[in-house]
Amino acid sequence: MMMALTGKCDCGAVTFILHKTPKWLVDCNCSYCGRIQALWANDLIENIEVNYDEAQVFRYQRGDRIMDFVLCRTCGCCTHWEHHEPEEYGRLSVNMTMIEPALIAAIPIRHYGGADWSGYMDDGFGRHNFHRG
Ligand SMILES: [Zn+2]
Ligand SMILES: [Zn+2]
Repeated sequence: MMMALTGKCDCGAVTFILHKTPKWLVDCNCSYCGRIQALWANDLIENIEVNYDEAQVFRYQRGDRIMDFVLCRTCGCCTHWEHHEPEEYGRLSVNMTMIEPALIAAIPIRHYGGADWSGYMDDGFGRHNFHRG
């Protein structure tokens, strides 16, 4: 059995557990992810458990996008993002920089062209697009 991958914000108000090891981590080049240097693990909602009290977080929505970045109100760390209609999308993403680095060192990182939704760069897309918007 794998060791549980657990993460938390700096102060510990927001915690998460991954029930499966992600196949890869996503390094997105959009103007927000680039600034905070996030490494996302996307998976089905049932494979990720995020625990927090709504009063302990704030939400940042970029433009008219369909998801919120969720940040701890106390320490400011961005721990995950959530779709506005989670049942419809069925997926969740947590920021793996909230995990002890040694635990994720073996997981490959893929670069994602979130700046213009051009897909994974190792699929031949998005190489030209690095933005700080
Ligand atoms: Zn915190
Ligand atoms: Zn992004």
